[in-house]
Order: sequence, then C-alpha cells, then structure tokens
Amino acid sequence: MTERKIFCNFAVEKQNAGKKIRMKVKKFGGTSVGSAERIRNVGKLIAGCRKDIVVLSAMSGTTNSLLEISGAVEKGDRKRASELIETLQAKYSDTIAGLYQTEKYKAKATKTIDGIFNELRALTDKDFSVALEKEIVAKGEIMSTNLMNLHLHELGINSVLIPALEIVRIDMHGEPDEAFISKEAKKALDAMADADLYITQGFICRNEKGEIDNLQRGGSDYTASLLGALLGADEIEIWTDIDGMHNNDPRFVEGTTPVHNLHFEEAAELAYFGAKILHPTCILPAREHNVPVRLLNTMDPSAEGTLIENRLEKNAIKAVAAKDNITAIKIKSGRMLLAYGFLKKVFEIFEKYETSIDMITTSEVGVSLTIDNEKNLPRIEAELSQLGTVTIDRDMVIVCVVGDLEWTNKGFEAAALEALRNVPVRMISYGGSNYNISFLIRKEDKVKALRLLSYHLF
Ligand code: ASP
Ligand code: MG
Repeated sequence: MTERKIFCNFAVEKQNAGKKIRMKVKKFGGTSVGSAERIRNVGKLIAGCRKDIVVLSAMSGTTNSLLEISGAVEKGDRKRASELIETLQAKYSDTIAGLYQTEKYKAKATKTIDGIFNELRALTDKDFSVALEKEIVAKGEIMSTNLMNLHLHELGINSVLIPALEIVRIDMHGEPDEAFISKEAKKALDAMADADLYITQGFICRNEKGEIDNLQRGGSDYTASLLGALLGADEIEIWTDIDGMHNNDPRFVEGTTPVHNLHFEEAAELAYFGAKILHPTCILPAREHNVPVRLLNTMDPSAEGTLIENRLEKNAIKAVAAKDNITAIKIKSGRMLLAYGFLKKVFEIFEKYETSIDMITTSEVGVSLTIDNEKNLPRIEAELSQLGTVTIDRDMVIVCVVGDLEWTNKGFEAAALEALRNVPVRMISYGGSNYNISFLIRKEDKVKALRLLSYHLF
C-alpha cells in the first residue's frame, strides 16, 4: 500500500466547498502493457488510484499486426489475413493464460477477446477502404483496455471502461473537437460516478461522419493530453519505459541524466529534435490548459521523471538533441539584394509542394534553409533554380541546445559555440524562440558534437 501512496497522492481529495474531485490522467504505452506480466505491473501502479483516468495503448506489436492484416485485405489476400489473425489471436490467448488467476476470469477474458477477433474476421471479409483499415486498427486498444479492466475486476477494483469511441471525436480537418470531447467525457464520468477507476482507449476516436478514426500513430499520448486538459486534471502522466527526457542522447553520449523540469516550449523543441519520447503536438492541449505533464518510467516507478509545465527554470541549459536526415538548401541570388518579395517566392514553392521548412538563415544575397522530407525535392529544386543558384547538402544533422536562451542572457550562445569550436558548422539559428539555438552540421560530426556539447554545457 505504501507503494501506491507515492502515485496516488492526489486521489480522492475532495475539496471541501467546490467538491471538485482531484484526479490525474495516466497513460501507459504499448510496451507498458506488452505482456501479461507488464499488464499486472501497470495494474499494481493504478490499483489504488481512485478516480483517475487510465489511457492505454494497444499491446506492443498489435497495431503493426493489425495494419498488416488490413494490408493483406487491401491486396485481396484473404488467406494471409486469416493466418495473421490466427497468430495474433494465439498471442492474446497466451496473455490471458498468464494474466488471470481464476478460471472465471480466464473464461470472461477469452469470451471478450474471442468476440473481438470474430468482429475482426468479419471486417476482413469486407472490401478494403481507408475507413475499414481504421476500424481494424482500432481493435488493438479495445483489446488492451478490456484485458486491463478485467484484470482490475479480478483484483476486486471497481473500474469501468469508458469507450473512447463515445467521447473522442475529430472534426472535418482531423483536429480534435474539444467542445464535444469535454462535454461527452464529463457526461460519461458523471454517469459512472460510483466507479473507482476509469479505463479508456488511447489513439482511437470517431470523425465528423461518425466513422471510426484515430489520432494517428503514437496518438495515445494525444488522447491523454486532451482528456487531462479538457477535464482539468491535476496532472497528466505519460508512463513509458525510460526515466523521462534525458539531457542528451544516451545512445551516443555516456552519463546522460534525466531532466527533471522542462517548460512546455523546451519540451516541444526537444520532442521535434529527436527526443522520441513525446510527440510535439501531443502536449499542446495540456499546455494551453495549463495542466502539467509528467513523464514516468514503469520499470522504475519511484524515479522522479520529467515534469513539463508552464514554468521556466531561469539561466539553465537543459538538454541537447539531434535530428538526422536533414537536407540543406541554399538559394543565392543577386536579385535578393535590396529587393522585397524574394523570400515570399521561395516559401511559396515549399508551400506548393507541402514541404515544411525547419531551420532558416538569411544574408543579403542568399538564403539557406533545411527540410526533413525529400519527397518533392527534385520539383522544389527545379522551381527554386528559376530564382537563383541552388546548392543542396544532404545527410546533415540539426543539433539543438535547449534551455533559457532568452536573448538578453549573456554567455549561453557563446558557450555552445565554444563547445563546437572544432566542428564545421553549416548553419546557425538563434533567436527564433527564447528556448533554443540550433546548429546544422555533417552527419559524420554528430556524435562528436553531442559529446562536446554535453562536456562543455553540463
Ligand atoms: N497503438 C497506436 C500506435 O501503435 C497508438 C499508440 O500506441 O500511441 O501507434
Ligand atoms: Mg507511443
């Protein structure tokens, strides 16, 4: 029980007057629920967390398998689809055998999961469409949440499933319909006010036509962030199997340490620049509604993790991150000199080919920018050539330093530059936000640059 206290310190503290029930939203990713043992482990972490909302991903590997099944349907290969379903179902049978103690619950879970597999088989008999694929893929989260809910029941916990398909909706632009989510989620919680714990699916939702849809790969974090933000949670916890965001990439640099506090903006920069732990758009709702996000580790639950909130630690450099596969494009033109409208023409070409620009630096006679998607590069290059001389550098890496880089602070940009004294730097971008300075370097210099920055800055 003492263990539980650590995680549930906010649970069921009813505020005297307003009777606001304080709660958290806790999201567990695919690996955290990836086996019977891991599901039991999460069960222990949430068992005592009364009134919290638990958002689950599909068991790891399941979403990919379901996409493969849908791919077989698309190719008209029904035999392959049914083989893949067999294999997946066997995995779930094993999980059930390992997860439940009693025959009663084994039977209940088998019945539920078999029912879902029967629905899946019926889906694979239909003609392929994108909508069908989304229906197939949604089964992953439906299965993991059912398994967890039954596991909690077997432990004697009064948990309920709230179907995400009833409370999460996206609009015609694919954006979350916040008014709908807020209203329907509150309604669902009120209707089940007696429950101790609420379990729901991450990732899946309906669209404006009422069809089953999703928030795109990795979207469970987004679900958690939306629910936490719109229901006014005390905190959104994202549980993975690393102890938060690190101050550098542990794959290349020894002795990295978790960063305990980050501003939302710092976290967004790091998320884009390679810290895979959190998708940048996912934390937007939390940020807008000022709900802190805490990254925690299921393998080491008492570790402090990383707390992301709207608070900046002054005068601190927090972390270094890198993004690979960057292409730099330089456009040099005499016509740029003292002319206006040149950049507009450049940007319009990128807009036309739906390619986003990440870094940009300009001089009076040229502009350099970077992209991370080469799909339309030949066409972009051809059109840019009409504006000036185009040079392309491939296999580049953006290294970014994140922290309190407000321009009036002195010395931080100098320290970063000093660290990279012996590394050839192609571009530098500073002042775009108060939180970052970015360097574009060659791929072969990346590890050296990351190590040098860690050595000099931390
Ligand atoms: N299951 C989905 C995926 O694998 C969503 C998620 O895990 O966040 O992308
Ligand atoms: Mg994920």
